[in-house]
Amino acid sequence: MILRDDCAAMDENDELCSLRGEFCFNEREIYLDGNSLGPLCEASSRRVREVVSEEWAKGLVRSWNTAGWMLEPTRLGDKIAPLIGAEPGEVVVADTLTFLLAKLIGGTLALRPDRHVIITDEANFHSDLYIVEAMAQRAGRPMTVKTIERATLDEHLDDDVALVMLTHVDFRTGEMLDMKGITKKAHDSGALMLWDLAHSTGAVPIDVSGCDVDFAAGCTYKYLNAGPGSPGFAYIRRNWQGVIENPLPGWLGHARPFDFERTYEPAEGMQAFVTSSPSIIALASLDGALEVFAQASMSQIRRKSLALTDLFMALVEDRLPGVFEIVTPRAHDKRGSQVALRHDDGYGIIQALIERGVIGDFRDPDICRFGFTPLYLRFVDVYDAVERMVEVFNSAMHLDPRYRVRNPVT
Ligand SMILES: *Cc1c(COP(=O)(O)O)cnc(C)c1O
Repeated sequence: MILRDDCAAMDENDELCSLRGEFCFNEREIYLDGNSLGPLCEASSRRVREVVSEEWAKGLVRSWNTAGWMLEPTRLGDKIAPLIGAEPGEVVVADTLTFLLAKLIGGTLALRPDRHVIITDEANFHSDLYIVEAMAQRAGRPMTVKTIERATLDEHLDDDVALVMLTHVDFRTGEMLDMKGITKKAHDSGALMLWDLAHSTGAVPIDVSGCDVDFAAGCTYKYLNAGPGSPGFAYIRRNWQGVIENPLPGWLGHARPFDFERTYEPAEGMQAFVTSSPSIIALASLDGALEVFAQASMSQIRRKSLALTDLFMALVEDRLPGVFEIVTPRAHDKRGSQVALRHDDGYGIIQALIERGVIGDFRDPDICRFGFTPLYLRFVDVYDAVERMVEVFNSAMHLDPRYRVRNPVT
């Protein structure tokens, strides 16, 4: 039996506990949805105010030069690089994730002109599946997208596969895939490897260099806490830079954007994957959000993340035995930083919890999803969240007919 005092003791020994103070919260709520939209941190708020009231209001158009706005996509890319095991100069911040996937898919297909297959996972995020299909149709040669069951990858890898595109941590179940092993298999068959890091960046340690990953992309509004709709990032391993072409060229990826030349010539390095004007206010927010990460190592974050998710699963089994199917793998090396619980009344459960100040989310058809973010969550929060879940079940609040109608965002 785990007691609240045990959790309070874990908080006292928590080396990351002081970072909670960096974030803005309603103290009556427990936020378990940082995997969908990270919360606001003070540094983001401060940095956005600076950019708006100084760089924009006073500096106006001069700030493209004087405040270094043009350099933000690559400068912030370099700040994200250590979080994913990349080198400086291998990451750029631009667009949003789906667009970046489009660019990377389009670019990679041209690198394997004799191959006709892209492999992805049938459980992949729908946006990834839409965009890979659309890019395959526009490859300029017949391409087939095989959406496979991920366990059957070996059977599908052959010398016709151009690209393997997978999401590292499954958005529904929280299962984490073996980045190194899968990348090696893809390479052994001569294919290129593109990883979607949406649910891994800032949540689990990633080593794109050590895993020999070719390409990757992720978003910054989930575990990186940069704010709603903040730009995504792309990783291109150094040896592919200058080789892979950006299929959506724009003036800001040109070697000399202000020469207004008639023909496109890509800039050096990751700048070539910038298409259009950077979203400076959103980048200011990202800049602030990354300052918090400078105060913690990914291994500290990982250690606490596993402790939080272990605790949550243990409490759910202890307090609500047999109620849920715990879908997230128990093995640490197969788990991201979220826990998915399956229940037929999942939507009602999540809505009832939100009304009680525990914010998680629901993913069709029956998954209650809870994200655990070590930067600001306490072990007592996990305890209290499960207690409120018990109250929901005891009062059958989740069966309220109001919850039969779903909101547009679940
Ligand atoms: C969140 C998420 C996206 C979202 O893409 P946007 O283009 O940033 O809206 C894409 N893929 C996966 C796997 C995600 O989890």
